[in-house]
Amino acid sequence: MKICGLNKTTMLDYPGRLAATVFLGGCNFCCPFCHNGPLVIAPEKAGNISEQEILKFLEKRRGILEGVCITGGEPTIYKELPRFLLSVRKLGYQIKLDTNGTNPGMVKELEREGLIDMVAMDIKAAPDNYIRAAGVQNPSMEAVFETADYLLHGQLDYEFRTTAVKGIHTREDFMQIGKWIKGAKAYFLQSYRESQEVLCPGFESFTREELLGFLRILQAEIPNAAIRGVD
Ligand code: SF4
Repeated sequence: MKICGLNKTTMLDYPGRLAATVFLGGCNFCCPFCHNGPLVIAPEKAGNISEQEILKFLEKRRGILEGVCITGGEPTIYKELPRFLLSVRKLGYQIKLDTNGTNPGMVKELEREGLIDMVAMDIKAAPDNYIRAAGVQNPSMEAVFETADYLLHGQLDYEFRTTAVKGIHTREDFMQIGKWIKGAKAYFLQSYRESQEVLCPGFESFTREELLGFLRILQAEIPNAAIRGVD
């Protein structure tokens, strides 16, 4: 497993918990607006931390940190993930998994084994627009649908989120997303922000008013939909 980074303390990545975030390198998507570009295209150069270092750090922070957020890249591309999460679990941490939803089998296994408490799944775009948003020719939509469905109808705590990007998304995306995950208990619309780490720089953000317009469309199907990180 390629661990590229560790954010030692965050109040943002795990809702309601003081957490550390572990960044795994590599991804099976190539979203042009990805803000972790180096982690996706060149994980071998993006940093290298051993599992032992992470576990040692977490052991020291027991009783201070409450949770661990596992993000990427795409964590579920690693078949060793359950073994690593078991070690984290044994230290007494709550665990949140960030995923693009392409590995429903792994998500189900992690829940079955009691190794995750929450999943945050990206909804990249409307299903019709996934090839563009995920930056790959075959975005494994059957798998993505299966994971979303599993979360919608299962017992695991979850949230869905979409990063809205001008040049990728239109109103049509949010109309379709609303129908797709109708009634979801938690859905967040996030605004794209340009940064040096973006995979394909040059996209723009929507204005606050445009985002509020998308939110109104979404709330017709997902009353709990909200905007995150926009003033
Ligand atoms: S945004 Fe997520 S799913 Fe897309 S390329 Fe980046 S890490 Fe992978």
